[in-house]
Amino acid sequence: MVSVYQVLNGHYRNMQNINEIDQLVKIISKLPGLGPKSARRIILKLITNRDNILKPMIKALSDTNTNISRCNKCGSLKSATNCNNCDQSKKKLNKICIVENIADQWSIESSNIFEGYFHVLGGTINSSSNSKESLLLNALLQKVEKEKIEEVIIATSATVEGQTTAYYIRDTLKNFNVKISKLGQGLPIGGEIESLDDGTLHSAFKNRVGLETESD
Ligand SMILES: [Zn+2]
Repeated sequence: MVSVYQVLNGHYRNMQNINEIDQLVKIISKLPGLGPKSARRIILKLITNRDNILKPMIKALSDTNTNISRCNKCGSLKSATNCNNCDQSKKKLNKICIVENIADQWSIESSNIFEGYFHVLGGTINSSSNSKESLLLNALLQKVEKEKIEEVIIATSATVEGQTTAYYIRDTLKNFNVKISKLGQGLPIGGEIESLDDGTLHSAFKNRVGLETESD
């Protein structure tokens, strides 16, 4: 029986109480865009399709957990055997695009606006969880030198932290013979790269501006 109080508070407890399923509902509800109701629908789909969804999913999740990690050179995701962002030597790439996170990398990749390497900072210089080491800037400098990189495009977000990070990276690269630019007009103030549509992203790349170091 569902009491009036429970209904008013949205607590429909007239469901089977199965521990394993309650656990799963809790976990799946933490995923973006999913609440307890969608979680239950997903779980039902999994349980009623053990062989063609549930079991392959268990294996895929386990493989992901075992094999996928952050590359300690470029900061992107790598598989157990190689990093396909670092390992593109056959293409003769001469640009590096610096982004804050993997979601930004994926947005730029899917917009087809950029061909080159990515460097994923994993945050900004100000975020307390990110030390300068964790942004892998030493590895970035090595890459610029070794691959004879001609342009570094800084695609950090148009937030205070993102822009501070852009200038910090520019200063870090000042002794290298490399063009440094950042995304230009079209990038809305406070704009996170991940949330931009393709048109805005194209315009921001096309109108990128040079970040020259002030002569002193
Ligand atoms: Zn890598």
